[in-house]
Amino acid sequence: MEPRSLRHPERLLFEVSGPGRRGFALPPLDVPQPERFELDGRYTRADIEGFPELSEVEVVRHYTRLSRLNYAIDLGLYPLGSCSMKYNPKINEKVARLPGFADAHPQLPESAAQGCLRLMHDLERALCAICGMDRFTLQPAAGAQGELTAIMMVRAYHRERGNPRQVVLIPDSAHGTNPASAHIAGYRVEQMASNERGCVDLAALRRRMSEDVALLMLTNPNTLGVFENEIQEIAKAVHAKGALLYMDGANLNAFVGVARPGDMGVDLHHINLHKTFSTPHGGGGPGAGPVGVRRPLEPFLPVPTVEKEGAAYLLKHDRPKSIGKVRSFFGNFGMFVRAYAYISALGPDGLRRMSETAVLNANYIRRRLEDLYHLPYSEPSLHEVVFSDRHLEETGVHTLDLAKRLMDYGFHPPTIYFPLIVKGALMIEPTESESREELDAFIDAMRRISDEARRDPALVRTAPHTTPVRRLDEVGAARHPVLRWGPSRDER
Ligand SMILES: *Cc1c(COP(=O)(O)O)cnc(C)c1O
Repeated sequence: MEPRSLRHPERLLFEVSGPGRRGFALPPLDVPQPERFELDGRYTRADIEGFPELSEVEVVRHYTRLSRLNYAIDLGLYPLGSCSMKYNPKINEKVARLPGFADAHPQLPESAAQGCLRLMHDLERALCAICGMDRFTLQPAAGAQGELTAIMMVRAYHRERGNPRQVVLIPDSAHGTNPASAHIAGYRVEQMASNERGCVDLAALRRRMSEDVALLMLTNPNTLGVFENEIQEIAKAVHAKGALLYMDGANLNAFVGVARPGDMGVDLHHINLHKTFSTPHGGGGPGAGPVGVRRPLEPFLPVPTVEKEGAAYLLKHDRPKSIGKVRSFFGNFGMFVRAYAYISALGPDGLRRMSETAVLNANYIRRRLEDLYHLPYSEPSLHEVVFSDRHLEETGVHTLDLAKRLMDYGFHPPTIYFPLIVKGALMIEPTESESREELDAFIDAMRRISDEARRDPALVRTAPHTTPVRRLDEVGAARHPVLRWGPSRDER
């Protein structure tokens, strides 16, 4: 056997199975053995050919080793721009597991679910206060579903005024979900070019605005991490033609407690609880994309809404203008509990400090790398900073190589090749969770990799060298996913 050090080659459970291995031991049967155990005609284990048989310790080690092949926010910096991979305090997990929340059935009568309804009601009030909006729906299960929900409300709003209109305007720096949501909602998407600051071009917008436009979808801060400082003028230009202004507020982490979408002239917007309010996401858990609206859009909110009457909380289904339901029951309730715990624990001052620290950390990285890495837009950064690989052009090392090499230094790579308006983009968002030491270590790694790219480009272009798997065939994995164990397609 080769010395395996501490990197265990992991095989499939099917491959390490041995007949008769068990994770448990039962005493001998004291009743007659049935001929064949039938579960309503469903499969029993014995019917599944090759079903793996393993001991408990084998199963535990298999999954524990797999977990060590992965990277997580609990291991180190996860600077995935636009995704706000911040640390999730464990107290949130504890609160979400309280039996009154975790075991509540969504079909409980309202009288038996007062605590859960109150939590949803109070979370909605908190989000309204944070964002300066009149109402929120908590139902959408992700940011993208929040966008779709919002655009369906926009359509209902315009239809009630006689014409649903045809066009949704979207800047070229937008998140890819924006045009997708507008298209699914039946609108024609028209892209707007950004100006030299990376922001919406107000003069071009004024020229374009007409009564066929239903909505402008704006990301703020935009995907360059830049605040749209003309947003009030933008809102005026949009409203002057009877259209609405939507803000993609997935990255609210940049200005909680400092500025509010409602004060900027925004009519409706989604936020991602799983980015700003610390609930695990990506591989770690489901999302929640609540949508905030101003009063004129309230009648169209999904049903049911949570209302307070006297001391009681109730679900209101009778809302004739509602767009209906966008998700079963109320949304991802466990995420509401985590977000509520986080908001309550920090309070108004803590939330503002959270955003200030997120901005400070991003600017610290910017300041310490901008002499080396090319900064395509020089506007002040908020919670994230976008560099490019331009300074390495003559070395043949590209953004992808830099990202792969970062893994050798023990960091999750940042978001790469996004936003699309920056060639070879590296979009870095440290969040407020990180210590000065962790930021310094990351900066040091980025500087050393840039140096390596000049001295030994082949080293960087073949990275990672220390990870359990090297460069994966990402296109192949997406185009021909292998989702079941068994003979491969070619063998069949
Ligand atoms: C993450 C993100 C989205 C989409 O959110 P999901 O929860 O992944 O659907 C939309 N817009 C922006 C700007 C984002 O950062």
